[in-house]
Amino acid sequence: MAEEALSMSLKSLRHQGVRITPQREVILDYLIQVDTHPTVEMIKEGIEHKLPNLSVATIYNTLKLLVDKNLVIELPNNDGGIRYDFFGVPHFHAICENCGKITDIFSTDYAEMMKVLRKEAVEKSGYLISGTQLEFTGLCPECQLKLGKSVSTKSK
Ligand code: ZN
Ligand code: MN
Repeated sequence: MAEEALSMSLKSLRHQGVRITPQREVILDYLIQVDTHPTVEMIKEGIEHKLPNLSVATIYNTLKLLVDKNLVIELPNNDGGIRYDFFGVPHFHAICENCGKITDIFSTDYAEMMKVLRKEAVEKSGYLISGTQLEFTGLCPECQLKLGKSVSTKSK
């Protein structure tokens, strides 16, 4: 599935007139592989063995391009920085306010729900919409345990 996501993403880039360079492919591949929602420093560290001399500036520029082309989104980190996420498969997030963990939530209804909200956003705001992100904030299961606030009711 990761390989499929990569080849689809590269195809989409080519369609949009973007030349595929090694750093673009390696960074995209890394973001597809991990679910940590890494910072630029984490990305640098994670691809160091493949591209040892890549500067942070180059990584930033590549990420900016991937964000422009709607393959990657930026998420706010709780320290004010930015975290990056492959968004070739749209999903939403639950973000822990205590430890900063970001959890992916894939919903079969996501695309449909977003279409409805997007239509409403366009109608009510007049904006030319370029992206959508949905986030829930709260306490992750681990932090609920740590803080003695276990309210996690998993409905099965
Ligand atoms: Zn947490
Ligand atoms: Mn995500």
